[in-house]
Amino acid sequence: MKILLVGAGLSGAVIGRDLAEAGHDITIVDSRPHIGGNCYTERDPETGVLVHVYGPHIFHTDDEEVWDYVNRYQTFRPYKNRVKTTSQGAVYSLPVNLHTINQFYGKTLRPAEAREFLEEQADSSIADPQTFEEQALRFVGPDLYAAFFKGYTEKQWGCSPTELPASILKRLPVRFNYDDNYFFHRFQGMPETGYTEMIAAILDHPAIEVRLDTRFSAEQGAGYDHVFYSGPLDGYFDYRLGRLGYRTLDFERFTDQGDYQGCAVMNYGDRDVPYTRITEHKHFAPWESHEGTVCYREYSRAAGPDDIPYYPIRLVAEKALLADYVALAEETAGVTFVGRLGTYRYLDMDVTIREALDAAAAFRASAAAGDAMPAFVKSPL
Ligand SMILES: Cc1cc2nc3c(=O)[nH]c(=O)nc-3n(C[C@H](O)[C@H](O)[C@H](O)COP(=O)(O)OP(=O)(O)OC[C@H]3O[C@@H](n4cnc5c(N)ncnc54)[C@H](O)[C@@H]3O)c2cc1C
Repeated sequence: MKILLVGAGLSGAVIGRDLAEAGHDITIVDSRPHIGGNCYTERDPETGVLVHVYGPHIFHTDDEEVWDYVNRYQTFRPYKNRVKTTSQGAVYSLPVNLHTINQFYGKTLRPAEAREFLEEQADSSIADPQTFEEQALRFVGPDLYAAFFKGYTEKQWGCSPTELPASILKRLPVRFNYDDNYFFHRFQGMPETGYTEMIAAILDHPAIEVRLDTRFSAEQGAGYDHVFYSGPLDGYFDYRLGRLGYRTLDFERFTDQGDYQGCAVMNYGDRDVPYTRITEHKHFAPWESHEGTVCYREYSRAAGPDDIPYYPIRLVAEKALLADYVALAEETAGVTFVGRLGTYRYLDMDVTIREALDAAAAFRASAAAGDAMPAFVKSPL
C-alpha cells in the first residue's frame, strides 16, 4: 500500500520503518527543514557542541523492547540525569532527596529521621489533595514547596499551582536517601552522536522517501491508501472548533568558554528569575571535549498561533475541546492520529516509540484482516 506519514519525528520514523519493512511504500513529509521532530540535535557551528535544539532530551525507559529498538540504530552511552536547582540564593540537589532536605534545613538527618521530620512539616489536615498546591503541601510542607515547586510551576505553566490538578504531582519524587538520579527507569542513556543520527538511521530504508519543507494539508491524503498524522490534532481540521492550548518555549542561546555551570540542567525556582532553567549542552556528551560551551536559557509562555506547541495544557476547557476534535477525527476515514501532537498528550520518547510500534502492528493486523484502521490506536481522552 501507499502510505503517507505526516511528521518526520520519532512517531513518523518508527511507524514508517516498520511498515516499509512489511513491504509498504512510505512517503514522509515534514514542514520543518530537518528530520527528528522535537528530538532534533545538531552541532553548534561556533562551539562544535551537540545541541538539543528543542530542549534537553534524556532517554529513559523500563521497556526492554524499546531499549533494544533504539540500540539497533545508535550506540547509547550511559547517562544519568542529575538536575540541580538554584533557589533563594543557594544550590540544591533535585529531585528532593536526603541531601536536599539536609542542605535546606541545615541538618544531618538519617533516612528515617528525615521521613519523620518531613511528616511534621507536611500539612496532614489535607486528606484528599485536589490541586497541585495541596498535593505539595500535603507531602513536603510549605518550605520545600515554596523553594522548589511554587515559583518553578508558576513560570512553567503560567498559572497558580492552585489552578493545576494534583495529578501533576501525584508521584512526587521525594527520596529519603542520597540517590539524585532523576529517573527511576532501568535503562537510561544518551545517543552517542545524537538523536538526529538515530532517527536518520531509522529512516534509512529504500522504501522510505522523506520530503522536508513540505507542509501537509488534509486534501493531500487523497492519493494514499492510508495516512498517519503526527501533527497537531486541531491543525488537521484547520482549527475549526478553536485551538487546543499549549505552552511554548523560548530558548535564549549564549556561549562561554570552558564550563559555564558544571552540570547539564540548572533549574531556577525563584519567581523573580524569569527563566525556568539553563541547559548547558556539552554536559549531555561528557565523552566529547570542547573548549567553548553553549547554553540555553529557557522561558515558558502560552503558545500563540505561530509558536511551536510544546506542552499540552489539558485543563478542563481543553479537555472539552479535545473531546470534540476526537469525535471529528473518528468520523474521518483513512487517517490515524499518532504521537504527542496527534493525540494531544505529553509523551516521553520511549512511550512515543512504544505507541508507534503498536500503531504499526495494529495497521498490519487490520490490513491482513481487511478491517478499517481506527482514528486512534491510543485514545487521547
Ligand atoms: C522541552 C521538551 C523536553 C523533552 N525532554 C524529553 C526527555 O528528556 N526524555 C524523553 O523521553 N522525552 C522528552 N520529551 C518528549 C519528546 O520530545 C517526544 O516524545 C517526541 O518528540 C515525540 O515525537 P513525535 O514524533 O510524536 O512528535 P514531534 O517530535 O513533535 O514530531 C512531529 C513532527 O510533525 C511535523 N508536523 C507537524 N504538523 C505538520 C504538518 N501539517 N505538515 C508537515 N509536518 C508537520 C513537525 O514539524 C514535527 O517535526 C521532551 C519534550 C519537550 C517538549
